[in-house]
Order: sequence, then structure tokens, then C-alpha cells
Amino acid sequence: MEENLLELTQLSKSYGRLKAVDQLSLTLKKGNVYGLLGPNGSGKSTTLGMVLNVVNPTSGNFQWYGGALTTHQALKKIGAIIERPNFYPYMTALQNLNLICKIKQCKTDSIQEKLELVGLWDRRHSKFRTYSLGMKQRLAIAAALVNNPELLILDEPTNGLDPEGIHQIRALIIKIAKSGTTILLASHLLDEVEKVCNQVIVLKNGVKFYEGSVDGISQTYGYFELKAKNLDSLKQFLKGIAQVESIEEENNGLKVFLKNELESEELSEKLAEAKIFVSHLAKKKPSLEDQFLTLTQSK
Ligand code: ADP
Ligand code: MG
Repeated sequence: MEENLLELTQLSKSYGRLKAVDQLSLTLKKGNVYGLLGPNGSGKSTTLGMVLNVVNPTSGNFQWYGGALTTHQALKKIGAIIERPNFYPYMTALQNLNLICKIKQCKTDSIQEKLELVGLWDRRHSKFRTYSLGMKQRLAIAAALVNNPELLILDEPTNGLDPEGIHQIRALIIKIAKSGTTILLASHLLDEVEKVCNQVIVLKNGVKFYEGSVDGISQTYGYFELKAKNLDSLKQFLKGIAQVESIEEENNGLKVFLKNELESEELSEKLAEAKIFVSHLAKKKPSLEDQFLTLTQSK
């Protein structure tokens, strides 16, 4: 059964004239891995800050667990890392986690399991200051998990890490998601969201741009590249095809964008019927990266 963990209704935050988050509505359901995707400054951290009660909304509201819990109660069931991990440098990983359990008022039973999960059990007696940045970040994830949260919120968890560290964190997030924890991951990296998440919310200038499955983001119909001796008559003919959205001239050829499915065979058949013969016909699909840029740059 799908259960609403968190619901935002026209949630907004302004700093003076700047609308950091603008009428954002969305629903997080249990069992999903959500990517909150957008370029720097698009309002991701502000959004997370509001639902975690560290930023006051200007207007709109949000509700945890369908209103069954206050934010204060709900936050006990949530694990979040929204800043650089802050631990006592001279204390060991184990000591730090024990302290966090005290602060969170949760049992210490799960510490070993969480340290094993993040691959730091063997290093549990090392002082925090001896950890690499990637290890610090993994310890922060263990710390966020000690109370067995239903939702884990991560804000740019791979920022500043080396490729190995990035890979470890991503693999870890996937593992945590598989164990049934719902995840909300803010990131400016499309490929990170693509690798880790199944749902995505794209923000631009605080406004929701796209919301849906990660697969859906790649579902565009693509375009054709066409070349022919007589471009004008080719263009005229293409304009009459129902699936064609728009046509651009490029490199002595045409780029034909689609608004519906059209296969190469079908197009070449139509062209042949009209006795139009082309010297080049290729179907292209924009990469995810292109589409993300289109999503966030246009309009
Ligand atoms: P992101 O996390 O997507 O990079 P943020 O939520 O941090 O974006 O910021 C969204 C916008 O709000 C940015 O333009 C940022 O400069 C602005 N902003 C964030 N926090 C503050 C603040 N405390 N005071 C003024 N402006 C802020
Ligand atoms: Mg941010």
C-alpha cells in the first residue's frame, strides 16, 4: 500500500524579492527514491530546510504522514544530512555514534549494523579526524540511520568527494533504498539522480519543472536528421506530417523534431511515396543530459 510520507502544498520561501522556492507542491510516497534535481541555487536546500523545520516558509504548507504526526514527531522517524558532517574530531567513530544515540534518544543496538552497512565497522576505533572525506560522509549516513528512519534525506551527499568516494556513496544509497528506506536526495547531478533514484522532481529557480519517473525524463520522441538535394521541397513535405513538431536547418540538412512516435521506416516510406529521395536519414534521441539542460534552460 502506498502511504504519503510527506506532502508539500504550494510551499514557498522568499528572501526579500528572491523567490527561492515558489509554490512547490509534491507528494512523497513510501518506498521510492526521489531525486530533487536542479542546478545550484534552484531551491533544493531551501526546500529540505523547510520540511526539516530549519527554514521558515513564507507561505504554503507541508504535512508529514498525512497530518497524523506533527513535524516534531515526524522528524524522529527521519534521518537527514543537510550540512557537512559534524562530529567530534578527537573521538572515534563508535564514540561519536554513541553520543548521537544519546542526543537522538534512541537505542545503541543498531550501531554495529549501521557501521557495517557503511563499511566502517573495521575502522570504528579510529578517531574521526583521521577519516577521509568519503569516510566522514559515510559515517554521517550511519549517524542518520541509527534510529532506523523511514525516510533518509540527503543534500548533495557526493559533493567534494573523489570518484571512488562518489561511487561508494551512490552504491550505499542504492543499498539503503533496497532495504526499504524511502530516500529524498537533492543533487545538481543528473547522472547521480539517474543512477540512484526512481522518481525525480526537477527544480529551476524554485519552480517545479518536471515531476515523474526517472525513465519518463528520457521519453521524448527524438528527432530526425535529413539531407536532400532539394531541401525546400523536403521541408514543405515534412510540414504536412502529423508527427512533426518543428523543423530546423542545420549543416545543409534538416533537423526534424517530433511530437509523436515516428519510426524511420515509416518516414522513409512516406518520402518514397511522395517521390522525395534523401541522401541522409537518421533518427536521434537526445541524451539525458541534453534533456535536463533543455528542461532547465528553456522557458
Ligand atoms: P540549491 O540548494 O538548489 O543550490 P538553495 O536552496 O540553497 O539552492 O538556494 C536557493 C536560492 O535562495 C539561491 O538563490 C540562494 O542564493 C538563495 N538563498 C538561500 N538561502 C538564503 C539566505 N539565507 N538568505 C538569502 N538568500 C538565500
Ligand atoms: Mg543546496
